[in-house]
Amino acid sequence: MTRRLTILGSTGSIGVSTLDVIRRHPQRYQVEALCAHSQIDRLFEQCLEFSPRHAVVRDEILAVELRRRLAAAGGATQVLSGPEALVRMAELPEADTVMAAIVGAAGLPPALAAALAGKKILLANKEALVMAGPVFMRAVQSGGARLLPIDSEHNAIFQSLPANYRGNPGESGVRGILLTASGGPFRKTPREDFARVTPEQACAHPNWVMGRKISVDSATMMNKGLEVIEARWLFDIPAENIQVLVHPQSVIHSLVQYVDGSVLAELGNPDMRTPIAQALAYPERISSGVEALDLLDVAALHFEPPDFERFPCLGLAYRALREGESAPAALNAANEVAVQRFLERRIGFADIPQIIARVMERTPVSRLESLDDVLAADAAARRVAERIVDGMG
Ligand code: NAD
Ligand code: MG
Repeated sequence: MTRRLTILGSTGSIGVSTLDVIRRHPQRYQVEALCAHSQIDRLFEQCLEFSPRHAVVRDEILAVELRRRLAAAGGATQVLSGPEALVRMAELPEADTVMAAIVGAAGLPPALAAALAGKKILLANKEALVMAGPVFMRAVQSGGARLLPIDSEHNAIFQSLPANYRGNPGESGVRGILLTASGGPFRKTPREDFARVTPEQACAHPNWVMGRKISVDSATMMNKGLEVIEARWLFDIPAENIQVLVHPQSVIHSLVQYVDGSVLAELGNPDMRTPIAQALAYPERISSGVEALDLLDVAALHFEPPDFERFPCLGLAYRALREGESAPAALNAANEVAVQRFLERRIGFADIPQIIARVMERTPVSRLESLDDVLAADAAARRVAERIVDGMG
């Protein structure tokens, strides 16, 4: 059976890796829609290669330009624009599978639409689940969607859990989860030097090539904090049973501990095409272009505990999870604002956790029942974060 896909965020790091896997299996996958933001040169090339029925860009100005280029090249893709078009593509009747790979809160409305429309969702956009945890998981349930994690740690956990696992750790004999973390580029950098860190240094990850936002998140270790929250919702495991383990080589992608003492893990070279291919083909297996892991080359595996003092974002994420309801949405919004301002060189690297902590102190926790509640909590936290950043300038 040919699978028909909508790819949200096709021009990003995950989007490009997804298309690389799909390119290897043209008879299995048909691209129905490619959605991007502003990189129309890359989107144009992707449209010519994969001939999707639809493409989405940020606004009408870019859409006019893309239509002109496609017409000149003989492409038949219909070009749409704006956030509503992303939602339409996520619920497209012709598509059975949605790759959710937009970065940040902008990815939530289409990912939620895919859940309600009962799609097979390949979830890379962790921020959607962090912001909207209970609302999102209810939408997956009520829409009859199938949620498969792309984040390498969560994909490893998914592969290490029993095949029939349905959010029942106790009955499945699961004691807990060990989330591995590379520790990022500043694992050994003294805290005094954090104030001088530049965006270029923060984006130079030792093991993975990724978008700029997640690269900064890895450098502050907020990425691991977001992943703890993501794991809590994906696997219905309480925060106290999710432990972070620093493993600088990123060979073990995460582990599941069982009550009998067994520990199961997934290992591999750090390349996102592995989890993407695993989720695309699940429960089958397809080639991804990733080399086999050479354990003799790895020789030894190293581990250390996370440093909550030097990386306060990790503790802030656990705190948001304990506070519950809208607290993770506030954490995520504050982090998105702080990372953006750091990339614009308006604040320092060490200011990122400070801003998030202050936003969390000043934002009352509210109940989350609907997408509107989530978006309201997100907007409120962003306003507080912007005021704090302005006060720093
Ligand atoms: P990226 O910055 O490389 O790409 C982001 C994509 O989202 C681009 O296609 C961009 O056009 C699109 N986009 C951005 N803002 C948008 C908006 N407002 N509306 C519509 N589209 C928008 O990011 P990435 O590294 O590919 O990460 C994507 C997601 O996957 C993130 O949530 C990240 O945390 C997660 N993730 C990435 C990796 C990785 O290795 N890159 C690993 C695990 C999880
Ligand atoms: Mg990850």
